[in-house]
Amino acid sequence: MKQIRWDLSDLYKGFDKTFKQDLSNLEKIVKELAEHLTSPITDDVKYIETALKYEEQITIMGRTIGSFASLTSSTDVSNNEALGYLSKLSQIYRALTKPSVVFDRYLTTLNLDELATKSELIHKYLYNLKKSQQGAKYLLSEAEESLYSKLSELSSRSWGQVQTLATSNMMIEINGEEKTFSDVRNLAYDSDPKLRKLAYEKELEAYEKVDDFVALALTNIKREVNTINELRGYKSALEKTLIQSNMQEKTLNAMLEAMKEFRPQFANYLKAKAKYLGHKGSLPWYDMFAPVGELNKTYTYDEAKELVVNAFNSYAAKLGSFAQKAFDKNWIDVYPKKGKRGGAFCSNQPQIGQSRILLNFTGALDNVSTLAHELGHAYHGDIIKDNAPLHWSYSMPLAETASIFCETIMNDYLLSQVKDDHEKLSILEMGLQGDTQVIIDILSRYLFESKVLEQANRPISKHEMNTWMVEAQKEAYLDGLDSDKLHPYMWLVKGHYYSAGLNFYNFPYAFGLLFGKGLYAQYLKDKDSFVRNYDQLLKLTTMADAEDVALSMGIDITQKSFWVDSLKMIEQNIDQVIELFQKLG
Ligand SMILES: [Zn+2]
Repeated sequence: MKQIRWDLSDLYKGFDKTFKQDLSNLEKIVKELAEHLTSPITDDVKYIETALKYEEQITIMGRTIGSFASLTSSTDVSNNEALGYLSKLSQIYRALTKPSVVFDRYLTTLNLDELATKSELIHKYLYNLKKSQQGAKYLLSEAEESLYSKLSELSSRSWGQVQTLATSNMMIEINGEEKTFSDVRNLAYDSDPKLRKLAYEKELEAYEKVDDFVALALTNIKREVNTINELRGYKSALEKTLIQSNMQEKTLNAMLEAMKEFRPQFANYLKAKAKYLGHKGSLPWYDMFAPVGELNKTYTYDEAKELVVNAFNSYAAKLGSFAQKAFDKNWIDVYPKKGKRGGAFCSNQPQIGQSRILLNFTGALDNVSTLAHELGHAYHGDIIKDNAPLHWSYSMPLAETASIFCETIMNDYLLSQVKDDHEKLSILEMGLQGDTQVIIDILSRYLFESKVLEQANRPISKHEMNTWMVEAQKEAYLDGLDSDKLHPYMWLVKGHYYSAGLNFYNFPYAFGLLFGKGLYAQYLKDKDSFVRNYDQLLKLTTMADAEDVALSMGIDITQKSFWVDSLKMIEQNIDQVIELFQKLG
């Protein structure tokens, strides 16, 4: 297959003289900012303005330099030059750690609203400054911060590696063949029911060799989280996550309430799948990802491009022509190749008004959805490129807004093209598998993590972890899954639990999916006014809290009803899938 590579030359032509010159300029400016932040202050407005101007400059330059190195490395993972520059960059930025603490603490002494009346620049970045001011309340003394940052390398960060090591070194024998942990987990998608069951049994068995010390690692990470959060003055780990996510607790609760309300519908889908696959009663865990229906069609990249453009045009011509531009300008690295990383991502480059997308396109149907998803991120990037430089990044819950929206447009379009029932079942059910993970499994992860954090002022045994995980799964999946065939070791599978800095790294995914789908539900209600206002909403995602972003389109996400509307869209798919199970089973 002829490779279709992305063109990075608008960033740099290579690690050449220009690149090196820019890198040393960046280092110089970072040092100047560090000096500025720790110098005596005579005039608040001037001092803050200077700091902001430096930060803008550093954002613009750092994005170009850092992106060129990391994009280069993503298609050539063993490129040592790229890796070297990436580590040089983090070293350069480290010079700002301490001065930033000083600056943020200084912000707490100011009335920012008053200063904003005296300066356009401060007014423009009032949201950012207030966020830093708010965050500074939770800072420890400089000496403590510096001590903790050094010691956490040796404590929570090292404990976190235990889970990675335990799972990545795990070899599991299946039918006389040694397989890696991720190969065995992938067998859950196999079409052979015996193999799916065997893989599940062998996987659970394998954890028994490592569960003692991984449980110890998880306990210690969560104990550290509670200890440091208490010192910082957070009420809980959840409070900290919500602050980081720029959203309110009542929004989270409204969403969780709605998710709980739809558990019976998901359970009905799982029970219908159990029946279709020949089980009596509920579905065993190991058949949750069993393929159903029939899907043999593969797509060439040209076909995929045409489908995406047509689907996007059905939303609005400007979205279709945006996708066409990404194709024409070689923003996309298309096929797998040796030394290229797996998966897919989009990297926005607002400083040059472009984006780059990495795919590993093999022609499967979900590759077409992924292409639409990543182009959604790129469209989001296209909207925010006109924002000021310090308004180029968004918080995790809002990051998936445009991508899920575009993916939903694509999936709707694909379904409208399919005539055969077996194919239809396959496509719809594959989507539901994903939705079930993001809604129901994430609910179980949220319940489990809450329990662990609540108990983590003492050592927690692996037996307790297993018990709580099963309890959480029963509460989330209800009778959809067979209660004797759950997965007590999911806490050992998911790496997200093992980061002290990121707790509850689960609900933002549910937020992303349901917010994107909820917007799509609004779009279906009134297409014209939606298309007019949507870009404005995307623009706001980098400079307002989640609630205010939604309010810009008259949506109140603190109310359960918005989330219920999103879930109703999934319920429609559940109904269709159950009908097809009955018809074809
Ligand atoms: Zn995404």
